[in-house]
Amino acid sequence: MRRSVQERDLILSTVATFVDREVRPTASALEHRNEYPAALVERMRDIGLFGINVPREYGGTELGAVLYAEIFEELARGWMSVAGVLGTHLVICDILKHHGTPEQKQRLLPTLASAARRGALALTEPEAGSDLRAIRTTAVREGSEYVLNGSKMWITNARHGEIFVALARTGPDSLSAFVVEKGEQSAGLRVTRDLDKLGYKGSGLRHVMTGLEAERINVAARGVGLARAALDEAVRYAQVRRTFGKPIAEHQAIQMMLADMATKIEAARQLTRFAAEKKDRGDRCDLEAGMAKLFATETAQEVSLDAMRILGANGYSTDFPVERFYRDAPLLIIGGGTNEIQRIVIARSLLKKHVTT
Ligand SMILES: Cc1cc2nc3c(=O)[nH]c(=O)nc-3n(C[C@H](O)[C@H](O)[C@H](O)COP(=O)(O)OP(=O)(O)OC[C@H]3O[C@@H](n4cnc5c(N)ncnc54)[C@H](O)[C@@H]3O)c2cc1C
Repeated sequence: MRRSVQERDLILSTVATFVDREVRPTASALEHRNEYPAALVERMRDIGLFGINVPREYGGTELGAVLYAEIFEELARGWMSVAGVLGTHLVICDILKHHGTPEQKQRLLPTLASAARRGALALTEPEAGSDLRAIRTTAVREGSEYVLNGSKMWITNARHGEIFVALARTGPDSLSAFVVEKGEQSAGLRVTRDLDKLGYKGSGLRHVMTGLEAERINVAARGVGLARAALDEAVRYAQVRRTFGKPIAEHQAIQMMLADMATKIEAARQLTRFAAEKKDRGDRCDLEAGMAKLFATETAQEVSLDAMRILGANGYSTDFPVERFYRDAPLLIIGGGTNEIQRIVIARSLLKKHVTT
């Protein structure tokens, strides 16, 4: 959907102001207390972020993939957890938008767009992560209903989400995506425990893949945002920390690091934008989204470590946010399809394009 430059700037500046005034000042404290950011999620609902990929006819604003990526960059600059809460919700909106029945779209998309109910994606199981064909959860038809049996884990929004899309086995070689709503009809659905994590406190196969294309763009954008936050902190610190009679920013070795960090971030942003533009044109962008996800998340990891080096011991202290960036970065490498899997998908596509006879 086309937006005027003024409209885009207004949306982005609203999100940036929210991040600077409300997310950044509270993120580390909430994270260290392992507290769910309920007030921040409420504010994101007020701003209208939960419907940014939902068509207007269902109560959303359908901003398009480029603006969507820019919003995720901003949110992740503040705190990965708020970006995670929103990211997985929007994947559900995307799957329903493209593959839901007319009844499901009519009934579920407006409540998702207003965040009256939030979404969660339930793919992963104890024995099935990258290899989704190993999924053991079964779905068996009983009369007009399906009964699902199995357990999922690592499900972002499991506790606070109410509308799940779950992948289950419907035959020896077939997997199907089911909408599972918390409530009477899903009386057997239980969220049993919260996992203790390093950071990030809060996150039919073809149908799910549609959502994952968009998810890869949002994970890539989160990588850019996190790396940008780490660079901002490093630049600020380098100008105030003095060694050997001058700010460390005047040592050439530090300048080399800052220049490399900034260059990688810009390259990651452009790759992400390239994939998002393709998606906005209605083209398939799995390859480009995979490349963006791979590069941007590896950049987030490298840049957060570089920032930690620039801050020296303070980088290792919970008084500064860089340790949080450093702990949040690996999630991006694992989530949304690990980077090893991205590399395999990218390589396969190259080999398909350049077949030698
Ligand atoms: C914080 C967090 C939030 C998450 N949120 C969700 C969520 O909301 N919903 C959800 O469904 N899942 C979620 N996940 C799970 C995530 O999608 C999986 O962790 C991911 O798909 C990888 O699966 P796995 O951990 O089982 O690793 P595995 O699949 O066991 O992989 C282990 C290692 O082997 C590598 N590997 C696997 N296969 C190959 C291969 N063919 N070739 C080369 N290397 C290979 C992997 O890259 C990895 O390095 C989340 C994970 C985390 C950490």
